[in-house]
Amino acid sequence: MLILNEETCRRLLGIDAAAAAVEEVFAAMARGEATNFPVVREDLGHAGALFGFKSGFDKAGLTLGVKVGGYWPDNEKRNLTNHQSTVCLFDPDSGQLIALVAGNYLTALRTAAASAVSIRYLAREDAEVLGMIGAGFQSPFQLRAAVRQRRFKKLVAWNPHPEMLSRLAEAAAEIDLPFEAVELDALGAAADVIITITSSFAPLLKKADVKPGTHIACMGTDTRGKQEVAAELLAAAAVFTDEVSQAVAIGESQHAIQQGLISEDWLVPLGAVINADHAGRSDAAQITLFDGTGVALQDLAVAGAVVRRACSEGAGVTVET
Ligand code: NAD
Repeated sequence: MLILNEETCRRLLGIDAAAAAVEEVFAAMARGEATNFPVVREDLGHAGALFGFKSGFDKAGLTLGVKVGGYWPDNEKRNLTNHQSTVCLFDPDSGQLIALVAGNYLTALRTAAASAVSIRYLAREDAEVLGMIGAGFQSPFQLRAAVRQRRFKKLVAWNPHPEMLSRLAEAAAEIDLPFEAVELDALGAAADVIITITSSFAPLLKKADVKPGTHIACMGTDTRGKQEVAAELLAAAAVFTDEVSQAVAIGESQHAIQQGLISEDWLVPLGAVINADHAGRSDAAQITLFDGTGVALQDLAVAGAVVRRACSEGAGVTVET
């Protein structure tokens, strides 16, 4: 059995390899060759923590496993990340545990990979201005992944807590991307691609804020009740997602569905576009929206990728099972 810690994962896996792994598993999901199993998420009644499992099996990539972890709100006071997770991978032929992989960095990476894959397949080729709503821990990962997909010339950003925008400004400076903090309407008027990555429970971006031809990757809404964009925006857009059932239940789509503005068949799995079973964007004026809710198979895909890399480089610690 192989054990990979956070530092080894950071050293071995970058965004391009993560995006390739996520793209592949989205495609397998859309072909019905990879399945996410029901998610378990429980309030521990201890340390204010939420704890759960996300598992799945990718028959095409032969990746079987579970991500175990959750959220411990007081960790920050102890200099630990509030979100904690570990991925266990199993041999699909025998059920034997083959790897224990630290999941914190990989979770950030696989989330950034999902919005990057959506930009690759759905954004206009001539997109030049990237807009970001959100400036938390996850935001620099989304930024670094997005700039690999199009030749962006500028980043415009807004955050409900403006003091946090320095994090994005620094990340943009590191990659030589001009940065401007703007109001939301100015962000929508300027941006060709918008990524939302906040913990919002009320719509931030309105339909009128967004110009024709924009691609929006909604990445923050992963729980019942959260919302980043107006429900009317989904009804005006071509909507794509990682997994339709999860998007309807806990994604950005939940609100437009509940309000009767769209039905479940409005949503298209991004994997169908990757497989060329769906055309994706229909024309340059269409608004496309990716509802990225975060599925187990993304975690397993990047964990599988880092384990393969570790095996080829002899990295990590091996122990007898
Ligand atoms: P973080 O706590 O570091 O940052 C939170 C962000 O949300 C900041 O931009 C903050 O200003 C904003 N925010 C906080 N409270 C808010 C409120 N009440 N209304 C509006 N905005 C608010 O979190 P993070 O790690 O950057 O993650 C951001 C979001 O992305 C979280 O909601 C997280 O659950 C979600 N997430 C989704 C996936 C996925 O796969 N879809 C994966 C990881 C994280």
